[in-house]
Amino acid sequence: MVSQFNSLENALKYFFGYDQFRSGQKQIINEALNNKDLLVIMPTGGGKSLCFQLPALLKSGVCIVVSPLIALMQDQVDTLLDNGIGATFLNSTLNREELQSRENAILKGKIKLLYVAPERLLNDNFLNFLDFLRQKVGLSGFAIDEAHCVSAWGHDFRPEYRQLKQLRFRYPQVPMFALTATATKRVRADIIEQLGLQNPTVHVASFDRPNLYYEVQEKSRRSYTQLLNYVRSQEGSGIIYCLSRKNVETIAFRLQQDGIEALPYHAGMYDDERAVNQTRFIRDDVRIIVATIAFGMGINKPDVRFVVHYDLPRNLESYYQESGRAGRDGEPANCALFFSFGDLKRLEYLIDQKIDEKEQRVGRQQVRQVVDYAEGTECRRSIILRYFGQQYKGKCDNCDNCNYPKPIEDWTIEAQKFLSCVARCQERFGMSHIIDVLRGSKKKKIEKYGHHLLSTYGIGKDKSVAEWKMLGRSLIHQGFVNETTDGFSVLKLNKYSWEIFRNERKVEIAITKSLKVKASNDYNPRKAESDLLLHQLRKLRKHLADQNKVAPYVVFADSSLRLMAQIKPQTIEAFKKISGVTAYKAEQYGDSFVSEIREFCQQQSLPTPLPTSSNMITLQLYQQGLTIREISERRNLKESTIYSHISELLAMNQPIDIDRFISEEKKAMIIKCIQTIGDSSLTPLKNHLGDDYSYDEIKLVRAWYRRENKQ
Ligand code: ADP
Ligand code: ZN
Repeated sequence: MVSQFNSLENALKYFFGYDQFRSGQKQIINEALNNKDLLVIMPTGGGKSLCFQLPALLKSGVCIVVSPLIALMQDQVDTLLDNGIGATFLNSTLNREELQSRENAILKGKIKLLYVAPERLLNDNFLNFLDFLRQKVGLSGFAIDEAHCVSAWGHDFRPEYRQLKQLRFRYPQVPMFALTATATKRVRADIIEQLGLQNPTVHVASFDRPNLYYEVQEKSRRSYTQLLNYVRSQEGSGIIYCLSRKNVETIAFRLQQDGIEALPYHAGMYDDERAVNQTRFIRDDVRIIVATIAFGMGINKPDVRFVVHYDLPRNLESYYQESGRAGRDGEPANCALFFSFGDLKRLEYLIDQKIDEKEQRVGRQQVRQVVDYAEGTECRRSIILRYFGQQYKGKCDNCDNCNYPKPIEDWTIEAQKFLSCVARCQERFGMSHIIDVLRGSKKKKIEKYGHHLLSTYGIGKDKSVAEWKMLGRSLIHQGFVNETTDGFSVLKLNKYSWEIFRNERKVEIAITKSLKVKASNDYNPRKAESDLLLHQLRKLRKHLADQNKVAPYVVFADSSLRLMAQIKPQTIEAFKKISGVTAYKAEQYGDSFVSEIREFCQQQSLPTPLPTSSNMITLQLYQQGLTIREISERRNLKESTIYSHISELLAMNQPIDIDRFISEEKKAMIIKCIQTIGDSSLTPLKNHLGDDYSYDEIKLVRAWYRRENKQ
């Protein structure tokens, strides 16, 4: 099968339009083609799906894909269908006739990928259907998506996944392919065991997501304004995560008031309302979704450009999962965490309410790790990857700590003042009180305890409250002083504090200056020009997506759009070379995009291309009076290729008279139709006009119409 394409790369371009495999994909695909059982662990957005989809397309038979959520199935099937690939799903949303007709299509061998929910898969009727299918068409494999759902150790256990082992007994020869983004060893072992994988090859991809920019912002008092400014500085779709439903509602409302299209999403809303908001976000009707963590699992939007955690995440693993929903398409995206000690206290309070002591301990440790991440001064990526057990080389140059390192200063003397004040207050007070004493505050509480008489009273007037806080937090964070966690947060000295008193230990702290903004690029006219085109192409994509009732990213990925705006292909041949464009997509959408680009180039007086030599040959034969059929026979090319040549020649203002190829009535009819429903997409025109009109004819008249109606 592969040989039909000469190489896997050719097959990749043919089915998905991409030029290169991402790291790991090719090896996995080769193993899958050798019918090995596989366990693939890749971070969200790593490109897992393609690893089982491409082998499924190259092997004979149907690949059964088990997927836990209807939304996920729908999304993957939409994307495959839009690439002209035979895919479908069977789930509880379909009525009897629909089910029947899909089953027929499957048995006719029209489907390469069949998505099913686990509970359906294992009912007797369906198993019988599978037996029949196996005889008739063959089963190329089982792909178990979100395989961690099989494990009680994972974060999303689904009992129905446990039954999947039956498949192993029933079809021992059919290879099984398990996929997950979960990092822990325990879950991995459990997946192998619970699914009964046989000698599986385990692929663990790097958890690094180089396209994501990580930053932590100290959450200011006016945190909403801070958020608003952040959102305004960003482009494209974004997710804002909040802890509580109330916060979700408030923030979404305030953003709307400030003219930003935002919708809420949380578990307290009605199902249908939530589903509508989710779809509007996925379809780019609104830019922003404000959500609790209920949102995310089951949405696959690859072009989320930023994720903000407005409140603290519960642990680093969930932070990585949630922030990882940005930039799944591999394009640059931003992840920002808003961090405040007030939020931390609230979270710790919630943990303290837990009855189970072990849960409390785990909870506290997890929060500690989040704080280590937020307060850390080394590369954020290194901190996260270390948490996942992966060494990282040091500096990533794509996080705030790498790009804007905080200056480190020696604050040993200040630390001595601070710690001795803790000692003189007899280790019975919290940070605010210590700072009040140091700064010589006149508060009643100070006099009440006689602390205005201490030798440390007022010795710290030279520094602001914020600076002392920065020091105090750093001391706690570095472990140089302890803070009780019984709800009172009292500072206690430890052995390091005493080393500092004795000048045996230096104290260095990272100095936080006011919030930094990412440096903006200098004005670049070429970039401005391609931005303008990109904007137009986005509009066109949205328009086509709405017509076909799919999400814009299903039509083309952001990366493809960006390449179009840069390279500005003005012929279908050049358009097909763009990464992400398959021959099928070029056929569907090529004309619309190419003419948009061509028009843009003409308006901007950019050079328009000359006809290609192949077009010129067609033109010469046309001028000799040959019909399209004759030209195609003479040149040994398909008729539709010649139609494309003629359309391109028309667009380049070459002298062509289409009346030679189409009757007066047909032409008039097509023009009438274009005038009613627009010319951006062929399919609606074709549907409207019916079987008497071919795509080629419509294309031809449309090209002529566009030329006549320019300016
Ligand atoms: P995962 O399931 O691992 O979260 P997906 O399979 O959804 O990730 O892939 C994420 C995105 O990356 C999709 O938009 C997909 O089309 C794209 N992608 C996958 N492989 C490649 C590749 N080789 N080149 C370019 N884009 C790719
Ligand atoms: Zn870094």
